[in-house]
Amino acid sequence: MQFCPHCGNHLTVSGGNTGGGNKMECKTCPYQYPITMKLTSRTLLKRKELDDVMGGGWDNVDKIAQACINDTCPGREAHYTQIQIRSADEPPTTFYRCVECGRRWSDMGR
Ligand SMILES: [Zn+2]
Ligand SMILES: [Zn+2]
Repeated sequence: MQFCPHCGNHLTVSGGNTGGGNKMECKTCPYQYPITMKLTSRTLLKRKELDDVMGGGWDNVDKIAQACINDTCPGREAHYTQIQIRSADEPPTTFYRCVECGRRWSDMGR
């Protein structure tokens, strides 16, 4: 539960029509607080960075001894890169790309 910093009434969640975002809204004064901006941009950021990472630039990154997650692939080495896409107090996510078959995955979930 969040309270309005102006009048102290508790804020209600309303589905916004502006850009599809929701917001916390005070019913007794004009105070508004966009809430899904955070969630949405975080999701988008994650996806975008994932695309960037998964998309290209793999030729210049380091290799590591890492068995391919593809059962039928003999690959035992993968290019890897680490990116902080979660909150700063969590470890960075490692992305891999198999040198054999090009299969990409991350340690974030497969
Ligand atoms: Zn208020
Ligand atoms: Zn592979």
